[in-house]
Amino acid sequence: MKSKVYFIKATADEGHEAISHKAWKVFLRIGLHDLLDKEDFVALKIHFGEMNNTGYIRPQWLRDVISEIRKKTRRAFLTDSNTLYVGHRSNSVDHIRLAWSHGFTPDIVDIPVIIADGLIGRDKQEGKGTHSRVKSPKIGSAFLNSDALLCLTHVTGHVQTGIGAALKNLGMGCASRAGKLDQHSVAHPRVNPKACRNCSLCIDDCPAEAIVQAEGHVVIDDKKCIGCGECLVVCKHDAIRLRWDEDSKRIQEKVAEYALHVRRIFKDKVGFLNFLIKITKDCDCMAKDQPRIVNDIGILASNDPLAIDKASADLVLERSKGKDVFRAGYNIDWSNQLRHGVEIGLGSMDYELVELS
Ligand code: SF4
Ligand code: SF4
Repeated sequence: MKSKVYFIKATADEGHEAISHKAWKVFLRIGLHDLLDKEDFVALKIHFGEMNNTGYIRPQWLRDVISEIRKKTRRAFLTDSNTLYVGHRSNSVDHIRLAWSHGFTPDIVDIPVIIADGLIGRDKQEGKGTHSRVKSPKIGSAFLNSDALLCLTHVTGHVQTGIGAALKNLGMGCASRAGKLDQHSVAHPRVNPKACRNCSLCIDDCPAEAIVQAEGHVVIDDKKCIGCGECLVVCKHDAIRLRWDEDSKRIQEKVAEYALHVRRIFKDKVGFLNFLIKITKDCDCMAKDQPRIVNDIGILASNDPLAIDKASADLVLERSKGKDVFRAGYNIDWSNQLRHGVEIGLGSMDYELVELS
């Protein structure tokens, strides 16, 4: 049977209120609100946008959806997990402050912001992988302790996966820092001896005692390192680097396997909203304004993360007059994540698009 994907046209210049109403309209069709119980914790997974980014989903666009969820439960919250890189989202305090600065405040969204993997990214749980690429998925605890998930995704291009959409938001976005490292790299971080100031901060912080003194700098003992990624954000001198050595196809397959793991936690109580508004070459981790690569299209909703991503990509390609604007960015075959998703039973690329007005 084909997965249903609900679609409504929308553009940024229609204004917050109109977009919020349209998001609510498609949201209602997926039926998630009907499944919510009074005591349910509902995680609204979102990317708050890096500092100076302008493409992120505006908090005002979510007001009607949040209001609908709040009719069922008071325990809804907006959430994301901390980043692997140093920026304004690598610990919960900076992350929440950034979310506030982008308008995710109680007076606008009426629900709290909770960072899913805790103050410094250590609050996670490890599961057991069920497919070839991921042995032990590491997910932010707030997701695992929630009863329902609504994945709110701004669809963009992506430097490593070609497209960043629901699958990426679910698989990479719900992973703790260690989980993100797991997906991005096949090797442990390394120290650049020239940049290291030998301050010992990372030695004190490493939970595995894997960082040791060498001549005038520190080194990481690969045998002891557990790949938690904490040293990447502890070093103030940018001396510890992730080896971005995983190839795009494998990253995409890992993303799909992580997504499957998260998806299974929630059984039926999961939904996806994709915003095809201000679609840019790079994702919202970019700390800058970026131009659109295609005109605004609208908002989609589905219970199937593969179907919604396939439908999103098809709509973008259709509006780009046949040019694959996602592939044009970094020459990445972004469809690997979808194909692998089908293989592992995450969802279906076979969908029926239901357009609402
Ligand atoms: S925190 Fe950075 S500068 Fe300090 S010892 Fe570790 S790698 Fe060197
Ligand atoms: S990744 Fe974690 S375990 Fe490995 S060296 Fe860094 S802090 Fe230590």
